[in-house]
Amino acid sequence: MLNIVIFGAPGSGKGTQSQKLIDKYHLTHIATGDILRAERENHTRLGELANQYMVKGQLVPDDIIIKMLEELIVHKPDNVGYIFDGFPRTSNQGEALDNMLLKKDTDITVVLSLEVDDKYLTERLIKRGEVSGRNDDTEETIKSRLQVYYRQTAPLKDYYEKQGKLVRINGVGTIDEIFGRIERVVDKINY
Ligand code: ADP
Repeated sequence: MLNIVIFGAPGSGKGTQSQKLIDKYHLTHIATGDILRAERENHTRLGELANQYMVKGQLVPDDIIIKMLEELIVHKPDNVGYIFDGFPRTSNQGEALDNMLLKKDTDITVVLSLEVDDKYLTERLIKRGEVSGRNDDTEETIKSRLQVYYRQTAPLKDYYEKQGKLVRINGVGTIDEIFGRIERVVDKINY
């Protein structure tokens, strides 16, 4: 299987590049943010609960997210691999993901870390908020999401670096330029 974790700060372009990876490599997309937003729109218990954290720019607690993921990673014989977008976001989630995949006799192939300077991130997120109306793309929430990223999520890079799986990708440029950098990495992998 080709299992990719796409990693990066809010606004680093994970969603956009994930879509391009899915089109080219036919992966199954697991985007926790999208799932939580859909749950919220449907007013499910999970959605209502998650929203209390999302609007503040905080992470939804690990136990909730991990349980949600366990239900999503169900075996499909024709699945060539997953792309994890927005997950894992904490060390606990990272370890839980490794265990989940191990149980399915597979593992993470590569972690693509989109590296984008803070000054571009805030700019991109504010613009996205204006277009999409996402209620967490406001200046105040963006600040706390970036803090949460550096405090709780960025340390995961060490975890994957130690496993020899982390590849840093320059996330500044046009969408196609960035995807070109990603393709060059993924095309070299034997899976
Ligand atoms: P971003 O563009 O900030 O990376 P996402 O769409 O991935 O945003 O996630 C939006 C919000 O959903 C996060 O700020 C967080 O509250 C919640 N969320 C998404 N994925 C996770 C996760 N793996 N663990 C905890 N909370 C999450």
